[in-house]
Amino acid sequence: MKSQDIRAKFLSFFEDKKHSIVPSAPMVLKDDPTLMFVNAGMAPFKEYFLGNAQPKNNRITDSQKCLRVSGKHNDLEEVGYDTYHHTLFEMLGNWSFGDYFKKEAIAWAWELLVDVYGIDKDILYVTVFEGSDDDDNLGMDTEAYDFWKQYISEDRILKGNKKDNFWEMGDQGPCGPCSEIHVDIRSAEEKAKISGKDLVNMDHPQVVEIWNLVFMQYNRKANGSLEALPDKHIDTGMGFERLCMVLQGVQSNYDTDVFTPIIREIEAVTNKTYNKDEEVDVAIRVISDHVRAVAFSIADGQLPSNTGAGYVIRRILRRAVRYGFTFLEKKEPFIYRLVTVLSEKMGDAFPELKAQKQLIENVIKEEEQSFLRTLDQGLVLLNRIVETTKGDTVSGEKAFELYDTYGFPIDLTALILSEKGLKLDEKGFNEELQKQKNRSRAASEMSTDDWTILSNDSEEEFVGYDSLEANVKLTRYRKV
Ligand code: ATP
Ligand code: MG
Ligand code: MG
Ligand code: MG
Repeated sequence: MKSQDIRAKFLSFFEDKKHSIVPSAPMVLKDDPTLMFVNAGMAPFKEYFLGNAQPKNNRITDSQKCLRVSGKHNDLEEVGYDTYHHTLFEMLGNWSFGDYFKKEAIAWAWELLVDVYGIDKDILYVTVFEGSDDDDNLGMDTEAYDFWKQYISEDRILKGNKKDNFWEMGDQGPCGPCSEIHVDIRSAEEKAKISGKDLVNMDHPQVVEIWNLVFMQYNRKANGSLEALPDKHIDTGMGFERLCMVLQGVQSNYDTDVFTPIIREIEAVTNKTYNKDEEVDVAIRVISDHVRAVAFSIADGQLPSNTGAGYVIRRILRRAVRYGFTFLEKKEPFIYRLVTVLSEKMGDAFPELKAQKQLIENVIKEEEQSFLRTLDQGLVLLNRIVETTKGDTVSGEKAFELYDTYGFPIDLTALILSEKGLKLDEKGFNEELQKQKNRSRAASEMSTDDWTILSNDSEEEFVGYDSLEANVKLTRYRKV
């Protein structure tokens, strides 16, 4: 089944269950001081859950663009290295605002996955909240357990703790237990090698979470205690690209038709081949992911810049440029050339991509050009540092200066040094970084669960991502 049909099927399934289909809200939030980007399907509906607004229909379904690169949800470092965390992804959702609850949410999730999409029920696992003996003193979610066991054998219903199976919006507000659905995507041959009990193993890396059903039934009050909500709500989120992976019978989101057209285009413009060399593969995955995040963001009106949300976008794009520069040996702009295939592929579901195509291309090309110049200058400076280095180690201070003043990525410094047989004083670098972080702590961001609270003076600086950028898995580059 093609990805377009998978998305359409989800929406029409819930439309048949009396849900209204609504378009994705913009991913960039202009008037929510607590959040820079939508990072979960529920974000645009916050006011309904809080009871501050009323939806026209109390059943809604949608596919929401989400970006997870900051705050509580920051998956950036995984992107490219694993095959199912993206920066930008679509979250398919069905919503009940004070209408149906656990029974229907569970029954319909099962019906959709097993009867409609045809997923073999023997590769599914579900989780339920086990309860907590802390101040909340919550019992196990036996309701959800009892509904699930009508569909799935009990050895496949696993109990999860508060961290995994109790969802809270923040320090206050609606919250409740959740059930997640995981899919075992191991091949039959692989499974044949494992016997009996060991086969039922949700911790395996190829057992992937696809859908989270949140049962909002409590309100967390200012004093920290819970009260039962008068209206109970359903909030579900399923990763669209992961669902496509399962339904298209592949083991990586990047092998679905959501990504393969972009990857083919990267291969064509870089003369590299995907699936031959792990480092090249990581770079190709990073670029195919990041071009989506940047293109959708620009289409939503958030251009790369030096502040706030714009800075996040700039950093994502620069990360892509860097991987292209280092591992695909592309020294001239090329990422902007991927926008055509992206808008062809996704422009029907997200018309803003088609409408803004020219702008997206121009902005990306301009950004690529300017960052490639930085990289060039940085290389000159780094060579000078190398020439003047006595011994076999470049000081953390020098590397930090290059990073901080010239924007030269630290992992690239480490890579180039290792090629020249030199070491980088990583500890010294991290100390300098820490000093800088301490300096900007005043402007720091405070993260409360799903909601990133930015203090008023933090506009000018987005802390948190910088350090991530700097701490890019240095060791991963070592073997080059
Ligand atoms: P994971 O444990 O895999 O990081 P999560 O528990 O953080 O996922 P939820 O917040 O429960 O994810 O979001 C609902 C669904 O969205 C997940 O079940 C998953 O299918 C999808 N999802 C979450 N994060 C990503 C991501 N970075 N890229 C793609 N899909 C994602
Ligand atoms: Mg996560
Ligand atoms: Mg999870
Ligand atoms: Mg989850």
